Amino acid sequence: MNRITPQRKAILKVLRSACAHLTADEIYDAVRLEVPRISLGTVYRNLEILAKQGMIQKIATGSGPMRFDGNPHRHVHLRCERCGKLEDVLMKKPFDPEEYVDRSLGYVVRGVVMEFHGLCRQCAEEPVA
Ligand SMILES: [Zn+2]
Ligand SMILES: [Zn+2]
Repeated sequence: MNRITPQRKAILKVLRSACAHLTADEIYDAVRLEVPRISLGTVYRNLEILAKQGMIQKIATGSGPMRFDGNPHRHVHLRCERCGKLEDVLMKKPFDPEEYVDRSLGYVVRGVVMEFHGLCRQCAEEPVA
């Protein structure tokens, strides 16, 4: 049976309500408001389980810490090179990996990991220090 513990429920709620893509530490801080006695280890363990179950996504970013995404569906991200913020991309047209991979390779293409990077609106407006 797939019983969902109150801790796991609270973690999921934080991830689903934040359109930001949080680190484990940020999730820990937010979940503690609701479940004050939760430990960071429990947060980590539940994040792993939720990711394995396909309820959330783990996103490895180049240099920064692992981030977690409450949106389990396949989508593409934009990463700010200056502040490290990660956002969902609103695609102008659906992305079809099949269009880009030569069929002669004989692969059945099932997905793609893609990340755009640049400067977010706030960082683009700020002069370089
Ligand atoms: Zn930024
Ligand atoms: Zn996302």
